[in-house]
Amino acid sequence: MISRQIDESSIIKAKSLIERSERIVAVCHASPDGDAVGSCLAATHVFGAIGKDIRTVIPDQCLANLRSLPGAKEMVDAAKYPEFAAQLIGDADLVLCLDFNEYSRAGRVAGALEATKAHKIFVDHHLNPTADADVVISHPEMPATSYLLFRFFCRLELFNFIDRRAAECLLAGMMTDTGNFSYNCADPELFIVTAELIRKGADKEKLYRQLFNTFSANCLRLNSYALLNKMEVFADDAAALITLSRDELNRFHYTKGDTEGLVNRPLSIPGIVYSCFMRQEADCIRVSMRSVGDFPVNAVCQEHFGGGGHLNAAGGEFHGTLDEAASLFRSILKDNKKKYIK
Ligand code: MN
Repeated sequence: MISRQIDESSIIKAKSLIERSERIVAVCHASPDGDAVGSCLAATHVFGAIGKDIRTVIPDQCLANLRSLPGAKEMVDAAKYPEFAAQLIGDADLVLCLDFNEYSRAGRVAGALEATKAHKIFVDHHLNPTADADVVISHPEMPATSYLLFRFFCRLELFNFIDRRAAECLLAGMMTDTGNFSYNCADPELFIVTAELIRKGADKEKLYRQLFNTFSANCLRLNSYALLNKMEVFADDAAALITLSRDELNRFHYTKGDTEGLVNRPLSIPGIVYSCFMRQEADCIRVSMRSVGDFPVNAVCQEHFGGGGHLNAAGGEFHGTLDEAASLFRSILKDNKKKYIK
């Protein structure tokens, strides 16, 4: 048994909205990750199993490794089919907004979400929800929306409708947002839920290969090149920097997702507290930073790169050359050390 976390009044309201709805749409945030897609697809399987007409709409394309999740082929990509996506949202009785908490995060379907007369239920784990909806189930202390969704299904008495497909999608979401159970895992009930999902037939080993260990030769070579030739380690300042130019990315036939996780690699070096990765894009230099402990990369991104984010994961952008962006980063190392490292 797991503890009750979602408040009873939200459950009662959600239950009656679901009972009264025929057509349901599940939507997630733009650039959908495993938790976003896994949550939507799991909802599609479970509510489909109780006879609802439910579709998943994604604001834009997800990474290739998510396209083999059960039901992924039936998702409606709003970037490819904008009219159909808007029509589904417009005609729905109920929209399930999963893994985001403000309309703007839904990218190109944000307008359709705000315009639709459909009722809305948010289930999410991001900080500071701002969305106004019939039901907002917000638990930032939970490691993944899919984990919260499992709890939601149980409270709706739908545990028996979680089949192998839904279990696989939920587990994919939990694995994604915990880095295959390597962080945000302090909650012991996470493993009780994992056990239930495996009991229902989710194949964790297959998911691991699909989600974490499938790379093209080009992708492996790009990452190896970046670490060998483009990583600067500033041991005295507890920092590291990796930069990749357009030319370098093209040389390895870069496709979206190929540098996923690269920014984290220098954090495995003892003594390195924060890491920065800069990638040259068509219109700007994309900056992403990660840290360990209490080093606030969100503050650094906000101050110098017009961005923000979480304490340990943040991003921003720079308008200028890649060299200028790198010089700026090098020039703030001493200051960062003084301000944020004891
Ligand atoms: Mn998530």
